[in-house]
Amino acid sequence: MSLVYITTEPSDRIRVEETIQTPDWIHPHLIESTDAIKGRQFLVSGPIPKGACLLVDSPYAVIPVVDEPAQNDNLICSNPACNRPAPCHTRTSCPNACIPDVTWCGSICRDADSLRHEFECAWLKRYAGTIRSKRGEYDFGMLWVILRLLAARHCQLNERTVAESHWKHGWSGIESLCGSEDTWPHDMVRSWSALVKKYLRSSSALPHEMSADRVLHLICQEEANSFGLYPRETGHFPLPNPPVDRGEQFAAAVYPTAAIANHSCLPNIIHKADDKGRMVFTASRDIFPGEECCISYFDLTQYTDLTSRREHLRKSFRFVCQCERCVSEESGKETEWTAMPMMDI
Ligand SMILES: [Zn+2]
Ligand SMILES: [Zn+2]
Ligand SMILES: [Zn+2]
Repeated sequence: MSLVYITTEPSDRIRVEETIQTPDWIHPHLIESTDAIKGRQFLVSGPIPKGACLLVDSPYAVIPVVDEPAQNDNLICSNPACNRPAPCHTRTSCPNACIPDVTWCGSICRDADSLRHEFECAWLKRYAGTIRSKRGEYDFGMLWVILRLLAARHCQLNERTVAESHWKHGWSGIESLCGSEDTWPHDMVRSWSALVKKYLRSSSALPHEMSADRVLHLICQEEANSFGLYPRETGHFPLPNPPVDRGEQFAAAVYPTAAIANHSCLPNIIHKADDKGRMVFTASRDIFPGEECCISYFDLTQYTDLTSRREHLRKSFRFVCQCERCVSEESGKETEWTAMPMMDI
């Protein structure tokens, strides 16, 4: 992913203390670096054995992504400190009955989450149905993630904690995410811009005090950095025999630190969210000093050949993969092509 410098607007001058939501755990040998082409990256400063936990990162914002939420036991608790599944028979719904996707695993979580949910509740009640029917689930989910990022920032601005760390987290971690208007096709950016003007302008009902351009930029960042949450791990390679996919998505989230990881089709990290929605990185082999730590951005059982992997990454993540597996398969293909010039592409 390319490196993007983000300018700070006057509305962002309210200094957000960099204290809330530090990554829960970072391996002491995992360091952040910058690559001229890829932008931010994770490097290893000392040996890391296979199976070691490298990172546990809490989401800055997470939304559930399930069909039939009212009857679905995989729906997660809306309290960001919890994020555990809230089974139908024990859950507590919103007293304002905003949308069935919002639930809590009990009244303790609902009460603890009241300030944050207040920020989104009226918006959800007013717009969710319209956006879902006019624009579909994808756009609704995207706008809801943005709304929850703004809600988390709103809560953060109302808290005061001071601590020191060289890892950017909380809202400043979100501001550091890559992704800009130039990353995405013009018609996509135009469509997002229209959505922002229609649904996410700052108002008394949605007091985020950010300009429409800044919110549009946030969408560009979110689209380049959000993770899907799945019941099983992503990134096992070589594929187990028989291959095991990662299962059905149940949530989507933005992680300030985990987002630094770049992609490889031959990753040395496997990733999966734990039962609190925290992203956990685990070394899938021994990693040596100076090596980059990469995850796979997609389910490696779904896109197996070079062409389908590159096409998927180009469409969804806007880059041409040059990982060692792609490069070696590319040269293998070229050799084959030279040997059989009459073959159809
Ligand atoms: Zn809960
Ligand atoms: Zn509500
Ligand atoms: Zn690749």
